[in-house]
Amino acid sequence: MASVYLGLGTNLGDRQANLRIAVDALARLGRLCGQSRLYETAPLYVTDQPSFLNMAVALATTLAPLDLLVRLKELEQELGRVASHRYGPRLIDLDILLYDDVVLDHPQLTIPHPRLCERRFALAPLADIAGAIVHPQARITIGRLLAELPDSADDQVIVAAQSLT
Ligand code: AMP
Repeated sequence: MASVYLGLGTNLGDRQANLRIAVDALARLGRLCGQSRLYETAPLYVTDQPSFLNMAVALATTLAPLDLLVRLKELEQELGRVASHRYGPRLIDLDILLYDDVVLDHPQLTIPHPRLCERRFALAPLADIAGAIVHPQARITIGRLLAELPDSADDQVIVAAQSLT
């Protein structure tokens, strides 16, 4: 059984409902064993779009990394994600942030998520549920990665943190 951390993001429609439906659907892929608060974050890269709600969940699963990715892409489709340009608006985005201590560089899948260490919107929710977990490449904890994030990465300001109701 692998211990996996997933990042969720949404900036279209009823964002809380999108996250709730996604979390329910993720329970089909294993056992959900943790869920972060919700973080409202300003869009990065493409800034003229609605702000995002981000969260992270912990999942214990028997799915291998690439099989998990396939299932996540299927869930994104099922939950109504429309094809959009990179960094554009999206109903739901599901990313594999960490998968045990696995370091993987595959054409379709990079683990840990390649931009995790620079993204406050991914690190902040992840630190809620995995603050003491050591990033297998950076070799420091998620909590420290978040604390040491440079101010330059602060262009995605966390507006509010709340729980998924
Ligand atoms: P996105 O635009 O976030 O949906 O990601 C597009 C593609 O990134 C996916 O179809 C994956 O093949 C690839 N990818 C690479 N590493 C990861 C990861 N750790 N989690 C999710 N997707 C990944």
